[in-house]
Amino acid sequence: MREDIQLAVVGAGPAGSTAALVAARDLDVVLIDRKSEIGSPVQCGGFLPEAWELEALLPRAGLPDALREIPEHCILHRTQLQRIYSPSGKSKEFAVAGRVIDRRAFDRHLASQAARAGARILPATRATLVAPGLPEPSAVGSWPARRPTSSPVGNVPTRYDGTTSNAVGSTPAS
Ligand SMILES: Cc1cc2nc3c(=O)[nH]c(=O)nc-3n(C[C@H](O)[C@H](O)[C@H](O)COP(=O)(O)OP(=O)(O)OC[C@H]3O[C@@H](n4cnc5c(N)ncnc54)[C@H](O)[C@@H]3O)c2cc1C
Repeated sequence: MREDIQLAVVGAGPAGSTAALVAARDLDVVLIDRKSEIGSPVQCGGFLPEAWELEALLPRAGLPDALREIPEHCILHRTQLQRIYSPSGKSKEFAVAGRVIDRRAFDRHLASQAARAGARILPATRATLVAPGLPEPSAVGSWPARRPTSSPVGNVPTRYDGTTSNAVGSTPAS
């Protein structure tokens, strides 16, 4: 049991790494991802509107710096147009200023930022969250290896494990 860990963030995608980066300013944080190489394999087209487009679209959302300050080495292309094709072959165009992000590089960049802020990164580690009443999963290769009562983070790991997660237990962080 790691007594010094105050927060476990599950998932080193953009959401989890950003959360770990912010939390690591005040807490001892561990950032866990099942991937052995952060950001790979990529499961994203990488299209991201420019920050000002996102702010116009979601004026009250409070855009995180992670989406505002994207380093040039993570940007593959810039575009002014988005064209969406339906399965029937019909398409619709929208004028939108955007970037095509190299998600592998971007995810690695954000995880590095979290590490620089003090978060410990645990790649190749699958988090298994156990809810009361559910059968105990195999602990081999998973984290935490004990029931939540003795988990290093109490009963509340913070989940940013995306839509493809198969972690068992409580609902993802909102
Ligand atoms: C095919 C495809 C194309 C897309 N194209 C675009 C696009 O062009 N533009 C756009 O804006 N969005 C796109 N998206 C959506 C975008 O990828 C997601 O919105 C974004 O990745 C969500 O970020 P996240 O940090 O919440 O989750 P994710 O990026 O999914 O990160 C979750 C992380 O959690 C880890 N994880 C999951 N379960 C566990 C576990 N049990 N233990 C440890 N680690 C775990 C995963 O390995 C992963 O690294 C696309 C998605 C798909 C599938």
